[in-house]
Amino acid sequence: MKDNTILTQPPETLTGLSVSKPSKIAAGLKAVIQSMEFAWSEGGVGRGTQALLNLNQKDGFDCSSCAWPDPDGHRSVAEFCENGAKATASDADTRRADPEFFSKHSLAELSRMTDRDLNNAGRLTHPLIRRPGATHYAPITWLEAFELIGRELNALASPDEALFYTSGKVPNEPAFLYQLFVRQFGTNNLPDCSNMCHESSGTALAPTLGLGKGSTTLHDIHEAEVILIMGQNPGTNHPRMLTALQIAKKKGAKIIAINPLHETGLDHFKNPQDFMNPIKAVGTLVGKGTPIADVFLQVKINGDMAVLKGIIKHLFALEEKHPGKVIDQRFIEEFTAGYEAFRINSRQDSWDEIEASSGLSRKEIEAAAELLAFKDKIVTCWAMGITQHKNGVDTIKEIVNMHLLKGAIGKIGAGTCPVRGHSNVQGDRTMGIWEKPEEKFLDALKKEYRFEPPRKHGLDTIDGVKAMHEGKLKVFISMGGTCFRLLRILNLWPRGFVS
Ligand code: SF4
Repeated sequence: MKDNTILTQPPETLTGLSVSKPSKIAAGLKAVIQSMEFAWSEGGVGRGTQALLNLNQKDGFDCSSCAWPDPDGHRSVAEFCENGAKATASDADTRRADPEFFSKHSLAELSRMTDRDLNNAGRLTHPLIRRPGATHYAPITWLEAFELIGRELNALASPDEALFYTSGKVPNEPAFLYQLFVRQFGTNNLPDCSNMCHESSGTALAPTLGLGKGSTTLHDIHEAEVILIMGQNPGTNHPRMLTALQIAKKKGAKIIAINPLHETGLDHFKNPQDFMNPIKAVGTLVGKGTPIADVFLQVKINGDMAVLKGIIKHLFALEEKHPGKVIDQRFIEEFTAGYEAFRINSRQDSWDEIEASSGLSRKEIEAAAELLAFKDKIVTCWAMGITQHKNGVDTIKEIVNMHLLKGAIGKIGAGTCPVRGHSNVQGDRTMGIWEKPEEKFLDALKKEYRFEPPRKHGLDTIDGVKAMHEGKLKVFISMGGTCFRLLRILNLWPRGFVS
């Protein structure tokens, strides 16, 4: 008897898993081969290669995967990494999930497919609807789809009964129109994927540095004397970052990696670009690649705050031994507030607590602090390993404190670098995709488009999910969002897709 239940999660089929010794070298020839395999298998040799040759090129298109920046100056012919090749291949996918596919597979069957299976069904060709009581999605015309959405929205008792989600997959132009439409509809319920990724960064950086985003460019990373990488796996999530780290290393930079996971990309890196140059290719093939981390602190999960407190405590101790050589007093006097209270506070942190909370020895932390003690070109990069903790905001403020002590802000080779996961997540925020819009942004909308935008802040993603659970939300619209998994977990299969 066919089971027609719709599952929230596909059955776990952990088959074929094998455990092997972790590799010590990231990227290399393997990355080149895999990138081509992806591009050719999903987009075809001609189309796939064409797409890769345009990827991240000035007259080409931006990678839709992570948000690692492109060089301002020269760009290599292959200005992409394996992940970028995979994402582009998926975007260039020639397979089609057409009405015939949905007529063959009921919702119950779709719910038993993994995300990868669903992705491999290919790109949607028609708007789809799940009519009340239906077991399958069925095609619907665009006009009917728009009329249905319009009817549902107009039937709401309040615009705040609808939630309009989006993610960094959406380019600036549609993002701007989306927020304008939603605000003219009457709500600020505009959550997005940054609520779950770098919201802590913006919340910590805006009040401390007056800038809710990173203060560095790619050039700063190349010019840094010391780079700290915290709660981030560059080799897995931002592979082209390894090229930037390699450039900095070649200029003498020291890299401190702070991570519970000893990620291969923080060990050694073989730059796939080297295979474009026959001489370099041989060296890269036989060599061990560029060593990345000079100091690797295998911290306890969420032990980063303790590491920072330890580094800062040792910087103060070194300043006592070498007055005026470690702490940038002139910068502190000219540009900061709250230094004295902070210095006294740091004295109270005990090394026992720091060692216990970080899972590291005083000796290890002091070794890291000594790498940046007499330097001021310091860049700190971080990602979800920092931001997705309840104390993420405080930890990022401590990163800022360390930079202010060193005067390592607002100069070449120095600054804060929250590394984002989605290509246009920063762009969307700038376009107004935020449930907590600033008054001056709303004033500008009012002046330009002559309507009174809603002023009450909206729901972020988590509050939105809670409101769905509590039945306070009646309509959920997602544009380019990765919320499908979220809805699956909530057993909320969408009523319709328009793509
Ligand atoms: S580093 Fe990120 S943005 Fe660059 S090609 Fe790779 S996935 Fe795309």
